[in-house]
Amino acid sequence: MAVGTGTLTVITGPSGVGKGTLVQRLLQRHPSIWLSVSATTRSPREGERDGESYFFHSRDRFDGLVAEGGLLEWAEFAGNCYGTPRAPVEQQLGQGRPVLLEIELEGARQVRRSFPSGFQIFLAPPSFEELERRIRGRGTDAEEAIQRRLSRAREELQAQDEFDAVVVNDDLERALTALEQLMALR
Ligand code: ADP
Ligand code: 5GP
Repeated sequence: MAVGTGTLTVITGPSGVGKGTLVQRLLQRHPSIWLSVSATTRSPREGERDGESYFFHSRDRFDGLVAEGGLLEWAEFAGNCYGTPRAPVEQQLGQGRPVLLEIELEGARQVRRSFPSGFQIFLAPPSFEELERRIRGRGTDAEEAIQRRLSRAREELQAQDEFDAVVVNDDLERALTALEQLMALR
C-alpha cells in the first residue's frame, strides 16, 4: 500500500464518552489534521449533513463499497454499519498530512493490522454512570439505541489495554491537552 510520511491516529471509545466533542475541538486548534468522514447506514441525526458528519448510504450501497474494497475497515455497531473510505485516507497520508480516524473497537482492530505504525488512543469515561449520563444527556438516541450502546460500551471498556494510550475524558480541557501531547501537537 502506497503510504507517504503522514501519521495515522485512531481514536476509539464508547459511544457518549465525548469523542466527537474532543475531535471537533482538536480540529479547531489544529486545522492541519485531516479527519476521515465515514460511511454509515445509520440515519442522519438532526443537524447532521451528508458528506460532513458521515456519508449516509443505503445498506446496498454500503455492501457495494465493501465488495469493491473501498473501505479501509468496517464494522457493525448498534444495528448499523460504519466504515472508513480507503482512497481519501491513503491520499492524505501520501500528502504527508496527520490523519485522524474516530472509529469503534472492531474497526480499530482492523486498522491495527493494516497500519501497525498507526497510533491508537482509547478515550475512557470517568465512570460508567457518567457515560450513561452523557449518552442520555445528548438526547439524540431512542431508549433501545441507548441500551445497545451501553451494552457495547461495557465490551469496549474491557479492551482499553489493547491501545497505545488511554485518555480519561473527565475535564474536557485536560483531555484535550492529553490528546495534543500524545499526538505530538504541543
Ligand atoms: P461520542 O462522540 O463519543 O459519542 P459526544 O461527543 O457526542 O460523544 O459527547 C456525548 C455527550 O457528552 C455530549 O452531550 C457532550 O457535550 C458531553 N461531553 C463530552 N465531553 C464531556 C466532558 N469532558 N464532560 C462533560 N460532558 C462531556
Ligand atoms: P454514532 O452513531 O454515534 O455516530 O457512531 C457510533 C460508533 O461508530 C462510534 O463508536 C463511532 O466511533 C463509530 N464509527 C464512526 N465511524 C466509523 C467507521 O468508519 N468505522 C468504524 N469501525 N466505526 C465508526
